[in-house]
Amino acid sequence: MSNRKLIVGNWKMNGSLAGNAALIGDLLAGIGQPACDVAVCPPAVYLAQLQALLAGSAIALGAQNVSMHEGGAYTGDVSAAMLRELGVRYAIVGHSERRQYQAESDVHVALKAKLALAAGITPIVCVGETAQERQAGLTDFIVKRQLSAVIHLVGPCVSEIVVAYEPVWAIGTGQTATPEQAQAVHAVLRAQIRAATEHAARVRILYGGSMNADNAVQLLAQPDINGGLIGGASLKAPDFLKILAACASQ
Ligand code: PEP
Repeated sequence: MSNRKLIVGNWKMNGSLAGNAALIGDLLAGIGQPACDVAVCPPAVYLAQLQALLAGSAIALGAQNVSMHEGGAYTGDVSAAMLRELGVRYAIVGHSERRQYQAESDVHVALKAKLALAAGITPIVCVGETAQERQAGLTDFIVKRQLSAVIHLVGPCVSEIVVAYEPVWAIGTGQTATPEQAQAVHAVLRAQIRAATEHAARVRILYGGSMNADNAVQLLAQPDINGGLIGGASLKAPDFLKILAACASQ
């Protein structure tokens, strides 16, 4: 269990062998002793490279996805056991880009979370509403539906997951939820987790959606915001380091 905040960089489909080495070099040069837990999630093809670059460092390795199958005839998939062999500690599941472009359903996401847990990997379960859903007053309904599929499958093991609230309208748009808007949804998620486990307080609920060096301090100051899932700003070492530094002021 950890009360430390968790900051995770989601590199999405960005990077190159040379670029990754340079970015990690800059991060390791500037990170010192971070006041939070830190992970980066490169594209799967670079996991082995990153495992070597991050060995013995303060930065943990994460994956952007994991198969909903254990193994076998699933061309293109990467299993949780394979990720674990490469030293992967976290796996993002149910990112809105995968829900949208790869037609991942709540059930798929729950299966992925379950297999990650079984392999000793912490799933980072992403939930979030679209702009239309928010306008229609459906935010709480949507995020609770998405999380309940996972809770239904993993039961009390929900205490072992990380949740990321990522309003779809805030991802990559520069439009951030206000700290109050984010906290309100995080409180709803916390209550839902509390109904499933007595260890709800230790479940880290990250905020994601255009978090940057300027808004991180205020977002991270909210009582139920336990860290961040960072897209764009995780690709620039100075920006990512500033977000890590924001944890020190909490
Ligand atoms: C994300 O993709 O998880 C994300 C939060 O992206 P961005 O920070 O670029 O909005």
